[in-house]
Amino acid sequence: MSEFLSTGTLPDHYQQLAKTVRDFARSVVAPVSAKHDREHSFPYEVVAGMADMGLFGLPFPEEYGGMGGDYFALCLALEELGKVDQSVAITLEAGVSLGAMPVYRFGTDAQKQEWLPLLASGKALGAFGLTEAGGGTDAGATKTTAKRDDGHWVINGTKQFITNSGTDITKLVTVTAVTGEVDGRKQISSILVPVPTAGFTAEPAYDKVGWNASDTHPLSFDDVRVPEENILGDEGRGYANFLRILDEGRIAIAALSVGVAQGCVDECVKYAKEREAFGAAIGTNQAIAFKIARMETRAHVARATYYDAAALMLSGKPFKKAAAVAKLVASEAAMDNARDATQVFGGYGFMNEYPVARHYRDSKILEIGEGTTEVQLMLIAREAGL
Ligand SMILES: Cc1cc2nc3c(=O)[nH]c(=O)nc-3n(C[C@H](O)[C@H](O)[C@H](O)COP(=O)(O)OP(=O)(O)OC[C@H]3O[C@@H](n4cnc5c(N)ncnc54)[C@H](O)[C@@H]3O)c2cc1C
Repeated sequence: MSEFLSTGTLPDHYQQLAKTVRDFARSVVAPVSAKHDREHSFPYEVVAGMADMGLFGLPFPEEYGGMGGDYFALCLALEELGKVDQSVAITLEAGVSLGAMPVYRFGTDAQKQEWLPLLASGKALGAFGLTEAGGGTDAGATKTTAKRDDGHWVINGTKQFITNSGTDITKLVTVTAVTGEVDGRKQISSILVPVPTAGFTAEPAYDKVGWNASDTHPLSFDDVRVPEENILGDEGRGYANFLRILDEGRIAIAALSVGVAQGCVDECVKYAKEREAFGAAIGTNQAIAFKIARMETRAHVARATYYDAAALMLSGKPFKKAAAVAKLVASEAAMDNARDATQVFGGYGFMNEYPVARHYRDSKILEIGEGTTEVQLMLIAREAGL
């Protein structure tokens, strides 16, 4: 595993994967990014391209229709996509890490056979509904309920901010719901809800600050009936299981964030060589060159943190703290680099047609989704013994 720890010595198969996704990001994603962002449209053609490349199946075994890779391979793909288009990257991240991974980690054989080949193919998307109006960070405050009735679960409640939940190819929403109480404590379970199911509605999409081409909806569940065997994992373990999914997901979000941080550097280096002021390229000015050097440093450090967290995870060692560190460092690197890149571009950096402007709007959510910055700090403080 030690080769993972260096950002400069990746084994060939990882380098090859990163290059393939980089080429795809440049030739297929980048040309349509501004259009989908402007029109707030879901990039179906790009998702189909990622599906053809097998990206949705990267970390899953071939017996379930996957590519037989690992979570680090997924992270490398997310980094390359994140350089160019965060909406596309988060669509892949949420589809794999939140949509399919819970089935792979906690599903029965029958559930895996039913869902994984479909989700790994990328022809269908899965979503995970944890967050509610009254329970985001405090996800244990879940109010949605699932009650047993004649061999079924009957689900009632609402969820909010759920990624990939309302596309034309969304086929599964896994939802957390209160299924009972033991010793005065809520039992929260995860339940698979195929889409469509009567009583399930993806409400109109949000008008977001960024990630305009990613699909995000409030969801409502009105007497939604699914068979009892649709419970995912043990009854009452839904919340705990999802925390494990979030630990992994933080490494993936860190990788995406590193892509953003690096994408901002790459754009700035090009621009600083071309743009002239006072008769010279602005990059000859140390104020600009040092700003870009700091940006490069943030991207490099952040990359090292997610490589480290992924290496720990893949070697079966505890990785909770490393994942929280990676998510914290990388999301801040993305936000800081997006802000600095906008400054380097001057007025053009405030024009939506420039990728750095999109990164500026898109990056803030990286410090909020899959655990806010404050949550990462809480986890790190706890691991430090406080
Ligand atoms: C575009 C987008 C996509 C999303 N996709 C999904 C998805 O697919 N599935 C899903 O389930 N959710 C999803 N979310 C929800 C996201 O994970 C939550 O928004 C996030 O966890 C924060 O929860 P909240 O919005 O309820 O904020 P709150 O929990 O209300 O937090 C508000 C502020 O208080 C702080 N805070 C809260 N508690 C504490 C504390 N104890 N100590 C210190 N500070 C605290 C927070 O850090 C934050 O700064 C998405 C959100 C967005 C915007």
